[in-house]
Amino acid sequence: MHRAYNFSAGPAVLPVEVLQEAAADMLDYKGCGMSVMEMSHRSKMFQDIIDTAEADFRKIIGIPDNYKVLFLHGGAHLDFAMVPMNFQQGGTGVYINTGSWTKKAIKEAKKFGKVCVAASSEDKNFTYIPDCSDLEFPEDSKYLYICENNTIFGTEYHKLPNTKGLPLISDVSSNFLSRPMNINDYAMIYGGVQKNIGPAGLVIAAIREDLIPTEELPTVPTMLQYKTHVDGGSMYNTPNCWSIYVCGLVFKWILANGGLEAMAKRNEEKAALLYNYLDNSKMFHGTVVKEDRSVMNAPFTTGDKDLDAQFIAESKKANFENLKGHRSVGGMRASMYNAMPKAWVEELVTFMEDFEKRNLK
Ligand SMILES: *Cc1c(COP(=O)(O)O)cnc(C)c1O
Repeated sequence: MHRAYNFSAGPAVLPVEVLQEAAADMLDYKGCGMSVMEMSHRSKMFQDIIDTAEADFRKIIGIPDNYKVLFLHGGAHLDFAMVPMNFQQGGTGVYINTGSWTKKAIKEAKKFGKVCVAASSEDKNFTYIPDCSDLEFPEDSKYLYICENNTIFGTEYHKLPNTKGLPLISDVSSNFLSRPMNINDYAMIYGGVQKNIGPAGLVIAAIREDLIPTEELPTVPTMLQYKTHVDGGSMYNTPNCWSIYVCGLVFKWILANGGLEAMAKRNEEKAALLYNYLDNSKMFHGTVVKEDRSVMNAPFTTGDKDLDAQFIAESKKANFENLKGHRSVGGMRASMYNAMPKAWVEELVTFMEDFEKRNLK
């Protein structure tokens, strides 16, 4: 079997044990004579799968009963619109602009009501996280919205904003379950699962009960109301059964491997390996200020387009995949999610050292 060193930003690497278990279950899930893709979402078999996935997700983070956990469609992009549709309600949505994902969220929110961008790092091409310790919010503000890990630009909040009492809504798509978090700091977290948890096309959200409108919103489509999915147990319509099932396997894998403390330790070790090398290299350098660097996504460059292209081409021949950077940053990007073995990052650093030796003039 051939497995590439896959540094993709998403969809991304999954634990081999999980893929093997899904493969073993493929034709006959636990003796029921069919695969998870073929069974009714109203069956007891599937209800057990989604209930267990939710219970394990709550256990991993430590989510109490006053938060609803939802499995939603449409990817994180749909929540860019659902957040203002459900929570703006005549007031202002406050946003911190830290890159492509918040730009898109701001664009959607402007379609429904008032938006205040309280801080931004656009002046330096999003290479840092703005100081959010003492921001001004309009009086009618309804929520403060952040993207906690900026997958494209490689920045991450290592300290949450001072919300001054506003409900904090965080897009955690690309640092989901990468480290322990205190859910009580948030009114809502949500993320597409394809970065750090499972197959694309599913969002998992945890929303504090008091934030969710109790009445049907007359102008918001039924499928775009969080209340619909709360009332329907995430099965108002047919959910993404396959992705929910694989996420459930990944939750078991996280629990069996020490939970979020252990994930964080391993992720920090991996990131330190790469960043330490970048800080000492005479050829490569990271693109983000040190204190705001992401543990998950590390953009870097040689500063020379042709050399970057040569590096990417040679890396492919050496079994590395998806190291090309996002077009808005250029250069390279290494994404190192939970399921990535530390050995792959060691292989990458060794490859970079060798490339540097061969090409440094
Ligand atoms: C990938 C990503 C998204 C978009 O996810 P989709 O599932 O493609 O909609 C949104 N936010 C962040 C932080 C991401 O990394």
